[in-house]
Amino acid sequence: MVKPFYDVIVVGAGSSGLMAAIQAAQQGVSVLLIEKNKRPGRKLLLSGGGRCNVTNRTTRDELIKHIPGNGKFLYSALNQFNQEDIIDFFESQGVALKEEDHGRMFPVTDSARTILDTLLDNCRDLSVDLLTEATVETVIFSEDKSKIAGVQLTTKEIIEAKSVVLAVGGRAYPRTGATGDGYAWAKKAGHTIARLYPTEAPLLSDDEMIVTQALKGVSLRDVNVTVWDAEGKAIVSHLMDMIFTHFGYSGPAILRCSGHVNQYLFESGADRCHLSIDLQPSLTTDALEAIAESQRDKQILTILKQWMPERMAEVILSQLNITATTPFKQLEHEWRAALWSRIKGFAITSIGSQPIEKGFVTGGGVNTKEIEPSSMESKLMPGLFFCGELMDINGYTGGYNITAAFVTGTIAGRHAAWASMG
Ligand SMILES: Cc1cc2nc3c(=O)[nH]c(=O)nc-3n(C[C@H](O)[C@H](O)[C@H](O)COP(=O)(O)OP(=O)(O)OC[C@H]3O[C@@H](n4cnc5c(N)ncnc54)[C@H](O)[C@@H]3O)c2cc1C
Repeated sequence: MVKPFYDVIVVGAGSSGLMAAIQAAQQGVSVLLIEKNKRPGRKLLLSGGGRCNVTNRTTRDELIKHIPGNGKFLYSALNQFNQEDIIDFFESQGVALKEEDHGRMFPVTDSARTILDTLLDNCRDLSVDLLTEATVETVIFSEDKSKIAGVQLTTKEIIEAKSVVLAVGGRAYPRTGATGDGYAWAKKAGHTIARLYPTEAPLLSDDEMIVTQALKGVSLRDVNVTVWDAEGKAIVSHLMDMIFTHFGYSGPAILRCSGHVNQYLFESGADRCHLSIDLQPSLTTDALEAIAESQRDKQILTILKQWMPERMAEVILSQLNITATTPFKQLEHEWRAALWSRIKGFAITSIGSQPIEKGFVTGGGVNTKEIEPSSMESKLMPGLFFCGELMDINGYTGGYNITAAFVTGTIAGRHAAWASMG
């Protein structure tokens, strides 16, 4: 039964909103959590391939480095609640977690449902009122517009509160409920919205091997992908796996580069961005030459196949007009140099990424300069708090976004509760 007045209303029962509601209720105040979907946490259930990558076991500096969209804004929040606290939060409630590659933490059950159920159990145990299938239309302010007063649902029903936490997410994957509703409410409170753009999204390309589909489905392991600016300066590099698709490039290394590609295209006005793939990051050109020389009687394709998939080797050889069956010893110096240069820096281009709706994470959002970093409270509208992807914060996949959501949700929830007591 929903009451007409609460100490704290949290809008959006996703990763950040569920945590905000729990942390607010733990302070002993009345909390209403409003969710437009029939069931909370739809995006959380999809994350980490349905296994929920709850956080990343790493140092604070590494964590911040992996949140390229305003990670530094989180310093103060992380002093109050950090990745180890997330691990403790779940483990202290009997949810065993395990660490996988790159520090990624998952529930031992390999099911995001375990995480969602734990959050929902907490809400229930702490008497959080959960109102589902209810869409907030807007936030409302006191008559003199000096502070928050509550929310109005699309049914026109008004529910009042001393503090309101906006946890409605960004605009990526709108079928999960994150349809970007919060930006208009933030603007109404006087906030600016940093330009929205897709991050963690596959890259589109009209490169010849994409158009001809010569490499479609070929995946590369542990390659170093670099994004370049027009002056030939490296913007970012990521050493991970990638895959060639029918529309361009995807896989972890590409997803991590995608936000940087979109930012570069926007800021420079260029119509394409240049990237390169180091197919053998652990070997120098001299080492490649030495290995090939030690196998000098072998055909060049055979030599290349030890370093990359056959189709990739065939494309490189065809780009250089080298016959695949040529014995390596017959290859002249300049052709060898050209070969090593392709292996160490195979050039590709991108004309941008798939749209925001298909990316995993939204770049841009409510301007963090207008939010108090130690409390997540609006600097412009007392009693209004923000958390999660709605803010101009975006991380790489690998648990960094969920960490940011849980951390900012915790801080917003606690401080919203404390503010409501004042
Ligand atoms: C497929 C996929 C995989 C991902 N994998 C990872 C991963 O491995 N690691 C990682 O760190 N991150 C991952 N992410 C990103 C991560 O899941 C999100 O960044 C994070 O869940 C955002 O949390 P949030 O609380 O800000 O928003 P959300 O979880 O999107 O929650 C917002 C909630 O608000 C509700 N809502 C919206 N508008 C209204 C309204 N008007 N009224 C009421 N309710 C409303 C929505 O229905 C939704 O439930 C992934 C994302 C996707 C899409």
